[in-house]
Amino acid sequence: MSTPVYLGMPVAPRGVGHLRGEPFPAAARRALADSQLRRNLGRATATIRAKRAAVVGELPDWEELRLAGEAIKTGTMAHLDRYLEQLESQVTARGGVVHWARDAVEANRIVVDLVRATGASEAVKVKSIVTDEIGLNEALAAAGIRARETDLAELIVQLGHDRPSHILVPAIHRNRAEIRDIFLREMGDAPPGLTDSPAALTEAARLHLRRAFLSARVGISGANFAIAETGTLCVVESEGNGRMCLTLPEVLITVMGIEKILPTWADLGVFLQLLPRSSTGERMNPYTSMWTGVTPGDGPQQFHLVLLDNGRTAALADPAGRSALHCIRCSACLNVCPVYERTGGHAYGSVYPGPIGAVLSPMLTGVGDNATLPYASSLCGACYEVCPVKIDIPSILVHLRARHVEETHRPTPEAVTMAAASWVLATPGRLRAGQRAGRLGRLLSRDGRIRRLPPPLAGWTAARDAPAPPAQTFRDWWRSR
Ligand code: SF4
Repeated sequence: MSTPVYLGMPVAPRGVGHLRGEPFPAAARRALADSQLRRNLGRATATIRAKRAAVVGELPDWEELRLAGEAIKTGTMAHLDRYLEQLESQVTARGGVVHWARDAVEANRIVVDLVRATGASEAVKVKSIVTDEIGLNEALAAAGIRARETDLAELIVQLGHDRPSHILVPAIHRNRAEIRDIFLREMGDAPPGLTDSPAALTEAARLHLRRAFLSARVGISGANFAIAETGTLCVVESEGNGRMCLTLPEVLITVMGIEKILPTWADLGVFLQLLPRSSTGERMNPYTSMWTGVTPGDGPQQFHLVLLDNGRTAALADPAGRSALHCIRCSACLNVCPVYERTGGHAYGSVYPGPIGAVLSPMLTGVGDNATLPYASSLCGACYEVCPVKIDIPSILVHLRARHVEETHRPTPEAVTMAAASWVLATPGRLRAGQRAGRLGRLLSRDGRIRRLPPPLAGWTAARDAPAPPAQTFRDWWRSR
């Protein structure tokens, strides 16, 4: 068992396992030119938004639930080291094995070694963003092990040699006709006359996956929650594929970010109400699987839990941004975000897209590695309003923008302007001189408006005009009376 990584101990190497591509503005510009993508996204997010609003509106104590979720997460993060040790001792006492991974490289090495030790060349997977974060499928493939995604949307993404673009609905950028084409082209056993009706597509996927479930010796999952007091892991999903992966194979390997822990079962009760209503717009989750260690003769006979840091302790060390770790990956913030709705998830260049991705990715990798993401927001605040654990995403975005400016030490035009304004406003004499100088702006005006300014202020008037300065300042007017 390798060394645990806690707050105060050496911080994990950053950035490993996160996708990096072109900066957000360039990727977003390309995505905006794809009208089919915008139609797919617009339709899908509008449907999920409406479902969520309806079921959340049913609960008179929704705000109290959100407050409870926020308080539990804040308290857990304050004592994360203690709860992680408790989880480790409980899982171990019940026959499981706990592994600690500082980063993606360590986590992948642990999982590859565990699968190799079974002699298997294939593993079935439950949908898991954290394994996307560390690039586990690629690491397994490099070791000659085939990882088969079993969640329908993840299967579509995998067969399409694509990347997920949404936390909850990874293939949200695809429509039914595109999915049918992918199945016919890549699945191998899809019926030749396959139509694009949802029933036909899911039946084709069901038959395709059934063979994989029945022959798999290794299952790999993430975890939505882990309960420290008993060492219980919890996965919530909608299709039942997760239940198959978690119960049929002989060996189960779960990779979990260290922030997913909850102290008690009572805490889980709060999140099992918050999560389904915020994510799929359902009152309760269709499949909620829980397991504690191993049970002789029932389910997997080997259970390994890989606890992953990969930048999380660094995020925890930032008091202004650490609440990003409270995220329960419901994706409600994506579905209300006007930026996400137009650009889609791929433009973020990270496995965590949308508003939470714009804060979480730079926090996990270091702001320098994802510098454009904190600017991928209009700061409208819609994400904060829907977040079930009340993460103030707009404030964290502003905080990360400030960190970026400080770290790059490049004064922005806005900072220079503000510094100049601060100097002018500091004394009455400077203000008077500044107002006199400002009156020169009248020379550039026509009909009381300034429509074009010389460089470097030309950018300001490229898309707007400004009122001409008044002929008389307020002070002059006061003195004249
Ligand atoms: S930030 Fe909040 S709304 Fe967004 S995915 Fe996380 S928990 Fe859900």
